[in-house]
Amino acid sequence: MTPPTTTTTATTTLNEPADLILLAKALRLPSFAQYCEPLAQTAEAQGWSVRRYVHALLSEELAGRQNRRVARFMQKAHLPVGKSLAGFDFSAVPALNKRTCLALAEQGSWVEQGHNLILFGPSGTGKTHLAAAIMYAHLLQGRTARFYRTTDLVQELQAAREQHRLEAALKRLDAYQMLCLDDIGYVKRDRDETAVLFECIAHRYERRSMVVTSNHPFSAWDGIFPDPSMTVAVVDRLVHHATILELNTDSYRRKSAAKRLAADSDDHRSTKA
Ligand code: ADP
Ligand code: MG
Repeated sequence: MTPPTTTTTATTTLNEPADLILLAKALRLPSFAQYCEPLAQTAEAQGWSVRRYVHALLSEELAGRQNRRVARFMQKAHLPVGKSLAGFDFSAVPALNKRTCLALAEQGSWVEQGHNLILFGPSGTGKTHLAAAIMYAHLLQGRTARFYRTTDLVQELQAAREQHRLEAALKRLDAYQMLCLDDIGYVKRDRDETAVLFECIAHRYERRSMVVTSNHPFSAWDGIFPDPSMTVAVVDRLVHHATILELNTDSYRRKSAAKRLAADSDDHRSTKA
């Protein structure tokens, strides 16, 4: 095999490692640039072959690229901060199957197939936390996701419709494999608002995943959509391929507030004693 041709400049002025760093930067290989010197020292100290050195450098570049990609996706996802599965207390929601939740977070197949996840439960029971935590797990696996309070999404879509750009706005959301409609029940029972919501759900149906949270069971969704046929059409599309989680428990917020109160009054009593 003939060796690759090198230009005179490259061979005559190569001044390692600075030039290697410059070359890597010119080729937009930031991790390669960052690690070429420290890895060269390791390679020399441990007698690595050239092949092993290049492999280690390229592996760093690949890992760096994946990390930067995940960081970019995280930024675009607008997830509520600090909501992870590790921080979710499953014992507070005995009706919830922990294994199902972990599988939803770990397995990508339902997302790849455009299936949905629907979380029901009264206010404060952890629907938003769980939805965000599951989406976070998928972001870490390199998938794309976007969290919206449904009312914000509806506003954005209504603005797009007024500018005759609804179709383009919906297509832009296709960039996200998972779209969260948090608190769908807070949308006004208004024809224009619910029409764009319907368009969005119909557009993603069987193609892109939706994660929906709601304080109201389906039976009460007639209160969200202005006519029953629209409610049926929406529910049909959402549940056709969906996992439904019910968080029918006491409000976690209320329970933690009650615990705090009890602890405070214990403290109060012990200081008095
Ligand atoms: P919902 O969306 O059902 O109204 P949230 O997910 O907003 O409830 O939960 C309310 C608060 O309580 C949040 O700060 C959330 O992190 C916390 N929380 C709720 N359930 C749990 C739980 N099982 N374990 C840990 N924190 C929880
Ligand atoms: Mg919520």
